[in-house]
Amino acid sequence: MIKLNNINKKYDSHEIFKDFNLEIADGEFCAIYGPSGSGKSTLLNIIGLLEKVDSGSICINNISNPFFLNKKGRKLLKNDISIIFQNFGLLENKTVYQNLLYSFNDNKKKIDKKKIMDDALKKVNIETNLNKMISKFSGGEQQRIAIAKAIIKKSSIILCDEPTGNLDNDNKIKIINLLKTLNKEGKTIIVVTHDLEMKKEFNKLINLECIEGG
Ligand code: ADP
Ligand code: MG
Repeated sequence: MIKLNNINKKYDSHEIFKDFNLEIADGEFCAIYGPSGSGKSTLLNIIGLLEKVDSGSICINNISNPFFLNKKGRKLLKNDISIIFQNFGLLENKTVYQNLLYSFNDNKKKIDKKKIMDDALKKVNIETNLNKMISKFSGGEQQRIAIAKAIIKKSSIILCDEPTGNLDNDNKIKIINLLKTLNKEGKTIIVVTHDLEMKKEFNKLINLECIEGG
């Protein structure tokens, strides 16, 4: 469960959220909709613990005010949340293997990392040599490799910032279907979008235009 209670967030004097409330249940397939500049990415970064609020409370997976957690607790919670950034967040001049390696939580554990990577890539429908450079993949493929990272991390919450923003229709459908599959497997999926067409795909819609502060 993700709960934001009366949060306030300003950048300089620009008020992004004023007494803003939000509740997203476990296993939800949720879209946050709003025009450019309405605070969608900010909200995703707040939920993903990358951005602090000025006031108000946050509760994620029964942990209240996660910013007060110690380093270890915070790391554990952060592992349970994956953010897929609008620009995919991959290191372009590194290989698939090098990019996916960052997603393993415990590097000391003796596990077959290559097999886990191959399985995750199969799941997102990418057949590749792990030594191929990220820059050699199309946008749609890079988006799916970014999702493979979240699969390897085993995060229960996946946040996606405009996941279809840079894709053609064919690739849009692939991404949405992939996110739906992950949701059916129990993951909470939260997608930020300004694409009106995408809205109908989701079970829950949060419209930033309609809420105070959005
Ligand atoms: P969206 O993702 O809906 O387009 P954002 O969350 O990126 O909106 O931004 C909301 C508003 O906050 C915008 O006006 C943006 O310019 C401003 N903003 C975002 N991040 C920062 C920052 N780090 N410093 C100052 N202003 C910011
Ligand atoms: Mg944005």
